[in-house]
Amino acid sequence: MIIFKSASTIKKYIIDKKNQGITIGFVPTMGALHEGHISLVNDCKKRSALAVASIFVNPTQFNNSADFDKYPITIAQDIDMLEKSGCDILFYPSHEEIYPDEILKSYHLGYLETIMEGKYRPGHFQGVCQVVERLLEIVQPNDLYLGQKDYQQCLVIKELVKILKIDIQVHINETVREKGGLAMSSRNKRLNMIERTQASKIYQALYIIKMELKPGNLMEIKNKAIHYLEENKFKVDYVEVADAVTLRLLDQWDGTFPVVILTAAYLNEVRLIDNLVMKPGGFNSSL
Ligand code: AMP
Repeated sequence: MIIFKSASTIKKYIIDKKNQGITIGFVPTMGALHEGHISLVNDCKKRSALAVASIFVNPTQFNNSADFDKYPITIAQDIDMLEKSGCDILFYPSHEEIYPDEILKSYHLGYLETIMEGKYRPGHFQGVCQVVERLLEIVQPNDLYLGQKDYQQCLVIKELVKILKIDIQVHINETVREKGGLAMSSRNKRLNMIERTQASKIYQALYIIKMELKPGNLMEIKNKAIHYLEENKFKVDYVEVADAVTLRLLDQWDGTFPVVILTAAYLNEVRLIDNLVMKPGGFNSSL
Protein backbone atom coordinates (compact mmCIF):
# COMPACT_ATOMS: atom_id res chain seq x y z
CA MET A 1 0.00 0.00 0.00
CA ILE A 2 1.31 3.44 -0.89
CA ILE A 3 0.74 6.14 1.73
CA PHE A 4 0.36 9.72 0.50
CA LYS A 5 0.31 12.70 2.81
CA SER A 6 0.41 15.42 0.17
CA ALA A 7 -2.80 16.33 -1.66
CA SER A 8 -1.00 17.48 -4.80
CA THR A 9 1.13 14.33 -4.99
CA ILE A 10 -1.77 11.88 -4.67
CA LYS A 11 -3.81 13.94 -7.12
CA LYS A 12 -1.06 13.73 -9.74
CA TYR A 13 -0.67 9.99 -9.13
CA ILE A 14 -4.41 9.40 -9.53
CA ILE A 15 -4.78 11.54 -12.65
CA ASP A 16 -2.00 9.45 -14.20
CA LYS A 17 -3.85 6.21 -13.29
CA LYS A 18 -7.14 7.54 -14.65
CA ASN A 19 -5.43 8.50 -17.89
CA GLN A 20 -4.43 4.82 -18.18
CA GLY A 21 -8.14 3.88 -17.90
CA ILE A 22 -7.86 2.63 -14.31
CA THR A 23 -11.03 3.13 -12.24
CA ILE A 24 -10.69 4.68 -8.81
CA GLY A 25 -12.74 3.56 -5.81
CA PHE A 26 -12.68 5.66 -2.66
CA VAL A 27 -13.43 4.91 1.00
CA PRO A 28 -13.21 8.06 3.16
CA THR A 29 -12.82 7.43 6.91
CA MET A 30 -11.83 9.12 10.13
CA GLY A 31 -9.63 6.19 11.15
CA ALA A 32 -9.86 4.04 14.29
CA LEU A 33 -10.75 1.39 11.75
CA HIS A 34 -12.89 -1.69 12.35
CA GLU A 35 -14.48 -4.42 10.25
CA GLY A 36 -17.21 -2.02 9.08
CA HIS A 37 -14.60 0.14 7.34
CA ILE A 38 -12.85 -2.93 5.96
CA SER A 39 -16.13 -4.19 4.45
CA LEU A 40 -16.19 -0.97 2.41
CA VAL A 41 -12.59 -1.53 1.27
CA ASN A 42 -13.51 -5.10 0.30
CA ASP A 43 -16.46 -3.91 -1.78
CA CYS A 44 -14.27 -1.21 -3.30
CA LYS A 45 -11.67 -3.79 -4.29
CA LYS A 46 -14.34 -5.91 -5.98
CA ARG A 47 -15.72 -3.14 -8.15
CA SER A 48 -12.86 -0.67 -8.67
CA ALA A 49 -9.41 -1.28 -10.11
CA LEU A 50 -7.63 0.93 -7.57
CA ALA A 51 -8.82 1.07 -3.94
CA VAL A 52 -8.07 4.35 -2.17
CA ALA A 53 -8.88 4.94 1.52
CA SER A 54 -8.41 8.15 3.46
CA ILE A 55 -7.96 8.81 7.16
CA PHE A 56 -8.66 12.33 8.33
CA VAL A 57 -10.43 13.32 11.54
CA ASN A 58 -12.28 16.32 10.21
CA PRO A 59 -12.65 19.03 12.87
CA THR A 60 -15.31 21.00 10.97
CA GLN A 61 -17.88 18.21 11.36
CA PHE A 62 -17.61 18.08 15.16
CA ASN A 63 -20.14 20.39 16.78
CA ASN A 64 -18.71 19.35 20.16
CA SER A 65 -14.99 20.01 20.68
CA ALA A 66 -14.70 17.44 23.51
CA ASP A 67 -15.97 14.79 21.09
CA PHE A 68 -13.25 15.82 18.61
CA ASP A 69 -10.54 15.79 21.31
CA LYS A 70 -11.57 12.31 22.44
CA TYR A 71 -11.91 10.82 18.96
CA PRO A 72 -9.83 7.60 19.02
CA ILE A 73 -6.62 7.59 16.96
CA THR A 74 -5.04 4.21 16.16
CA ILE A 75 -3.04 4.97 13.03
CA ALA A 76 -0.45 2.14 13.26
CA GLN A 77 -3.22 -0.44 13.67
CA ASP A 78 -5.25 1.24 10.88
CA ILE A 79 -2.35 1.01 8.43
CA ASP A 80 -1.90 -2.65 9.34
CA MET A 81 -5.62 -3.40 8.76
CA LEU A 82 -5.62 -1.58 5.41
CA GLU A 83 -2.46 -3.41 4.29
CA LYS A 84 -4.07 -6.74 5.18
CA SER A 85 -7.30 -5.84 3.35
CA GLY A 86 -5.32 -5.26 0.15
CA CYS A 87 -6.10 -1.53 -0.01
CA ASP A 88 -3.85 0.02 -2.68
CA ILE A 89 -3.53 3.58 -1.43
CA LEU A 90 -3.96 5.43 1.84
CA PHE A 91 -4.34 9.20 1.83
CA TYR A 92 -3.40 10.41 5.31
CA PRO A 93 -3.27 14.21 5.09
CA SER A 94 -2.57 16.90 7.67
CA HIS A 95 -5.12 19.63 8.40
CA GLU A 96 -3.21 22.04 6.12
CA GLU A 97 -3.47 19.68 3.15
CA ILE A 98 -7.26 19.56 3.49
CA TYR A 99 -7.92 23.18 4.44
CA PRO A 100 -4.93 25.12 2.98
CA ASP A 101 -6.65 28.51 3.06
CA GLU A 102 -9.14 27.82 5.88
CA ILE A 103 -11.98 29.06 3.66
CA LEU A 104 -15.07 26.96 4.42
CA LYS A 105 -17.93 26.73 1.95
CA SER A 106 -21.56 26.32 2.94
CA TYR A 107 -24.11 24.11 1.23
CA HIS A 108 -27.87 24.26 0.80
CA LEU A 109 -29.01 20.93 2.17
CA GLY A 110 -32.60 21.93 2.93
CA TYR A 111 -34.83 19.63 4.96
CA LEU A 112 -32.10 16.99 5.39
CA GLU A 113 -30.19 19.35 7.63
CA THR A 114 -33.13 20.23 9.87
CA ILE A 115 -33.88 16.76 11.26
CA MET A 116 -32.22 14.16 13.48
CA GLU A 117 -28.40 14.46 13.10
CA GLY A 118 -28.84 17.86 11.46
CA LYS A 119 -30.98 19.09 14.34
CA TYR A 120 -28.95 17.59 17.20
CA ARG A 121 -25.53 18.32 15.72
CA PRO A 122 -25.82 21.83 14.24
CA GLY A 123 -23.22 22.42 11.53
CA HIS A 124 -22.26 18.74 11.38
CA PHE A 125 -23.40 18.14 7.80
CA GLN A 126 -21.82 21.39 6.59
CA GLY A 127 -18.53 20.02 7.93
CA VAL A 128 -19.16 16.64 6.29
CA CYS A 129 -19.75 18.36 2.93
CA GLN A 130 -16.68 20.56 3.33
CA VAL A 131 -14.35 17.62 3.85
CA VAL A 132 -16.04 15.33 1.32
CA GLU A 133 -15.96 17.96 -1.43
CA ARG A 134 -12.25 18.54 -0.78
CA LEU A 135 -11.48 14.80 -0.68
CA LEU A 136 -13.43 14.18 -3.90
CA GLU A 137 -11.58 17.00 -5.57
CA ILE A 138 -8.24 15.44 -4.59
CA VAL A 139 -9.04 11.74 -5.14
CA GLN A 140 -11.40 12.14 -8.12
CA PRO A 141 -13.00 8.71 -7.68
CA ASN A 142 -15.32 6.98 -10.11
CA ASP A 143 -16.98 5.17 -7.20
CA LEU A 144 -17.52 6.20 -3.60
CA TYR A 145 -18.15 3.62 -0.85
CA LEU A 146 -20.19 4.60 2.22
CA GLY A 147 -21.76 2.76 5.16
CA GLN A 148 -25.49 2.57 5.82
CA LYS A 149 -24.61 2.95 9.51
CA ASP A 150 -24.54 6.73 8.82
CA TYR A 151 -27.83 6.71 6.94
CA GLN A 152 -28.56 10.43 6.96
CA GLN A 153 -24.95 11.18 6.02
CA CYS A 154 -25.32 8.89 2.99
CA LEU A 155 -28.29 10.95 1.80
CA VAL A 156 -26.41 14.20 2.47
CA ILE A 157 -23.41 12.99 0.44
CA LYS A 158 -25.69 11.86 -2.41
CA GLU A 159 -27.17 15.37 -2.32
CA LEU A 160 -23.66 16.88 -2.34
CA VAL A 161 -22.77 14.82 -5.43
CA LYS A 162 -25.89 16.30 -7.09
CA ILE A 163 -25.01 19.85 -5.98
CA LEU A 164 -21.46 19.47 -7.32
CA LYS A 165 -22.77 17.89 -10.54
CA ILE A 166 -20.01 15.30 -10.53
CA ASP A 167 -20.15 11.88 -12.09
CA ILE A 168 -19.58 9.56 -9.15
CA GLN A 169 -21.42 6.39 -8.35
CA VAL A 170 -22.25 6.11 -4.65
CA HIS A 171 -22.38 2.60 -3.15
CA ILE A 172 -23.97 2.13 0.25
CA ASN A 173 -22.94 -0.95 2.19
CA GLU A 174 -24.76 -2.77 4.94
CA THR A 175 -23.87 -2.06 8.56
CA VAL A 176 -21.39 -4.51 10.05
CA ARG A 177 -22.36 -5.47 13.61
CA GLU A 178 -20.82 -7.11 16.67
CA LYS A 179 -22.29 -10.50 17.70
CA GLY A 180 -24.82 -8.86 20.05
CA GLY A 181 -26.05 -6.54 17.28
CA LEU A 182 -24.10 -3.41 18.25
CA ALA A 183 -23.16 -1.55 15.06
CA MET A 184 -19.37 -1.34 14.78
CA SER A 185 -18.20 2.21 15.32
CA SER A 186 -14.93 3.96 16.09
CA ARG A 187 -16.67 5.49 19.09
CA ASN A 188 -17.21 1.99 20.56
CA LYS A 189 -13.49 2.11 21.40
CA ARG A 190 -14.42 4.64 24.09
CA LEU A 191 -16.76 2.15 25.81
CA ASN A 192 -15.55 -0.14 28.60
CA MET A 193 -16.53 -3.84 28.59
CA ILE A 194 -19.70 -3.31 30.64
CA GLU A 195 -20.77 -0.35 28.51
CA ARG A 196 -20.20 -2.37 25.31
CA THR A 197 -22.69 -5.00 26.44
CA GLN A 198 -25.10 -2.26 27.47
CA ALA A 199 -24.62 -0.49 24.12
CA SER A 200 -26.13 -3.39 22.18
CA LYS A 201 -29.48 -2.33 23.70
CA ILE A 202 -29.55 0.39 21.07
CA TYR A 203 -29.95 -2.34 18.45
CA GLN A 204 -32.61 -4.01 20.63
CA ALA A 205 -34.55 -0.73 20.69
CA LEU A 206 -34.60 -0.68 16.87
CA TYR A 207 -35.56 -4.34 16.92
CA ILE A 208 -38.58 -3.60 19.14
CA ILE A 209 -39.87 -1.26 16.44
CA LYS A 210 -38.93 -3.68 13.65
CA MET A 211 -40.97 -6.48 15.23
CA GLU A 212 -44.00 -4.33 15.98
CA LEU A 213 -44.00 -2.15 12.88
CA LYS A 214 -47.28 -2.26 10.98
CA PRO A 215 -49.29 0.25 8.97
CA GLY A 216 -51.02 2.84 11.15
CA ASN A 217 -49.95 5.19 13.92
CA LEU A 218 -46.26 4.87 14.89
CA MET A 219 -46.22 6.96 18.08
CA GLU A 220 -46.75 4.08 20.48
CA ILE A 221 -43.92 1.92 19.16
CA LYS A 222 -41.54 4.90 18.94
CA ASN A 223 -42.33 5.74 22.59
CA LYS A 224 -41.86 2.12 23.59
CA ALA A 225 -38.35 2.14 22.10
CA ILE A 226 -37.53 5.46 23.81
CA HIS A 227 -38.68 4.09 27.19
CA TYR A 228 -36.65 0.94 26.65
CA LEU A 229 -33.51 3.00 26.03
CA GLU A 230 -34.18 5.29 28.99
CA GLU A 231 -34.78 2.31 31.30
CA ASN A 232 -31.38 1.08 30.17
CA LYS A 233 -29.67 4.36 31.13
CA PHE A 234 -29.41 5.91 27.68
CA LYS A 235 -30.02 9.61 27.16
CA VAL A 236 -32.03 9.62 23.94
CA ASP A 237 -31.67 12.32 21.27
CA TYR A 238 -34.27 10.75 18.99
CA VAL A 239 -36.01 7.58 17.85
CA GLU A 240 -37.68 8.11 14.49
CA VAL A 241 -39.31 6.23 11.65
CA ALA A 242 -38.78 7.93 8.30
CA ASP A 243 -39.39 7.47 4.60
CA ALA A 244 -36.29 5.50 3.54
CA VAL A 245 -35.85 7.58 0.38
CA THR A 246 -36.67 11.16 1.42
CA LEU A 247 -36.12 10.81 5.18
CA ARG A 248 -39.45 12.57 5.81
CA LEU A 249 -40.28 11.78 9.47
CA LEU A 250 -43.42 9.74 9.96
CA ASP A 251 -46.03 9.51 12.72
CA GLN A 252 -48.24 7.40 10.43
CA TRP A 253 -47.29 4.79 7.85
CA ASP A 254 -49.57 3.20 5.26
CA GLY A 255 -47.24 0.25 4.68
CA THR A 256 -46.72 0.91 0.97
CA PHE A 257 -43.16 2.26 0.93
CA PRO A 258 -39.86 1.40 2.63
CA VAL A 259 -39.06 3.09 5.92
CA VAL A 260 -35.97 3.44 8.04
CA ILE A 261 -35.95 3.31 11.83
CA LEU A 262 -33.23 5.57 13.23
CA THR A 263 -31.94 6.44 16.66
CA ALA A 264 -29.22 8.43 18.39
CA ALA A 265 -28.57 8.12 22.11
CA TYR A 266 -25.83 8.71 24.65
CA LEU A 267 -24.46 5.94 26.79
CA ASN A 268 -22.66 7.96 29.46
CA GLU A 269 -20.38 10.26 27.43
CA VAL A 270 -20.50 8.35 24.15
CA ARG A 271 -23.07 9.19 21.48
CA LEU A 272 -24.16 6.21 19.38
CA ILE A 273 -26.34 6.06 16.25
CA ASP A 274 -27.94 3.17 14.44
CA ASN A 275 -30.71 2.38 11.95
CA LEU A 276 -32.62 -0.43 10.26
CA VAL A 277 -34.33 -0.28 6.88
CA MET A 278 -37.72 -1.99 6.52
CA LYS A 279 -39.19 -2.83 3.15
CA PRO A 280 -42.94 -3.46 2.78
CA GLY A 281 -43.76 -7.14 2.82
CA GLY A 282 -40.46 -8.24 4.32
CA PHE A 283 -37.82 -7.37 6.85
CA ASN A 284 -34.65 -6.33 5.11
CA SER A 285 -32.03 -4.25 6.85
CA SER A 286 -30.05 -3.15 3.80
CA LEU A 287 -30.49 0.16 2.00
P1 AMP B 1 -16.13 7.08 9.86
O1 AMP B 1 -14.70 6.66 10.00
O2 AMP B 1 -16.94 6.85 11.09
O3 AMP B 1 -16.26 8.47 9.31
O4 AMP B 1 -16.78 6.12 8.78
C1 AMP B 1 -16.21 5.98 7.49
C2 AMP B 1 -17.15 5.19 6.64
O5 AMP B 1 -17.35 3.90 7.22
C3 AMP B 1 -18.55 5.83 6.55
O6 AMP B 1 -19.05 5.69 5.23
C4 AMP B 1 -19.35 5.01 7.54
O7 AMP B 1 -20.74 5.00 7.28
C5 AMP B 1 -18.73 3.64 7.35
N1 AMP B 1 -19.00 2.80 8.53
C6 AMP B 1 -18.85 3.14 9.82
N2 AMP B 1 -19.25 2.14 10.62
C7 AMP B 1 -19.67 1.12 9.81
C8 AMP B 1 -20.20 -0.19 10.03
N3 AMP B 1 -20.40 -0.66 11.24
N4 AMP B 1 -20.53 -0.93 8.95
C9 AMP B 1 -20.34 -0.45 7.69
N5 AMP B 1 -19.84 0.77 7.41
C10 AMP B 1 -19.50 1.55 8.46
